[in-house]
Amino acid sequence: MTSPHGTTGAVVIDGKASAARVREEVARDVAALVAETGQRPGLATVLIGADPASEVYVRNKRTACRAAGMEDLHRYLPADVSQEVAEKVLDELAADDFVSGILLQLPLPEHLDRRALLDRIPAEKDVDGLTVQSAGLLALGRDGLRPCTPAGVLRLLDDHAIPLRGAEVVVVGRSELVGRPLAQLLTARDATVTLCHSRTADLAATCRRADVVVAAAGVPRLIGADAVRPGSVVIDVGIHREAGGLCGDVDFGPVAERAGHISPVPGGVGPMTIAMLLANTALAARRQFGG
Ligand code: NAD
Repeated sequence: MTSPHGTTGAVVIDGKASAARVREEVARDVAALVAETGQRPGLATVLIGADPASEVYVRNKRTACRAAGMEDLHRYLPADVSQEVAEKVLDELAADDFVSGILLQLPLPEHLDRRALLDRIPAEKDVDGLTVQSAGLLALGRDGLRPCTPAGVLRLLDDHAIPLRGAEVVVVGRSELVGRPLAQLLTARDATVTLCHSRTADLAATCRRADVVVAAAGVPRLIGADAVRPGSVVIDVGIHREAGGLCGDVDFGPVAERAGHISPVPGGVGPMTIAMLLANTALAARRQFGG
């Protein structure tokens, strides 16, 4: 197969283009909400401490939020903030009608109880989809806000018209943030899902069965060409900073020779995560405003 990029091999999935479409859709939805209800959606990002990577992520989320026409209601808390004060801030945001969505940036300083803080966020404002309540709604197939990265993977597959009903999908990684919710979302779309992890006996053989492989293990180049059936779809969630730049969980060059579609790193799943955060915030606002 010849890709639109002119090389022989897989079609390279363009996450930047899909993310730009989602962001335009959100901006239109926000403008419509303001016109219909007179209220503007607001996103409260909560950053605790000064982790440099988190600072960059939060800055990008705030910029994207403003570009979509939403209020940027950021809160910063110092690294030594107590559990009690952090919980109080989250409770205030939960009760604030101007706040449509709350995002607690992870990781947190070690002395804080992450789960207890996340669970102060009410499900209707949980735009990261990580609270126990949101996870329960997803597990039961009930309406709710879905975690952004898995939702972004689904949107990428849909934008490339990859059929999921009846498809064999292998998800590599079972984290709370990515693999586990993604497996549930794919199951809800009638895919036959295998969830692999660090104790899976023969990862390459399992992946070779798949029509779609999603790699979210956090191990650089874990998925090689031996794990990919010719013509299949490979989505790479991993992000690793190396001397030569960013790479993913997929060994891109050799895998691109065999796969039918492949998402690159950077420029694949990464841009989708913020786009889906914006989409969740607009959706949360629409439900809160009754629009
Ligand atoms: P995690 O460390 O919480 O979970 C990794 C999972 O992979 C675990 O379930 C583990 O069992 C499994 N695993 C580890 N080694 C394995 C192996 N050798 N074989 C099979 N399974 C193995 O990681 P996470 O938070 O889910 O993130 C995974 C990757 O995705 C990381 O590289 C992270 O940086 C990236 N990530 C990217 C985005 C994005 O926006 N693109 C968002 C979240 C995470």
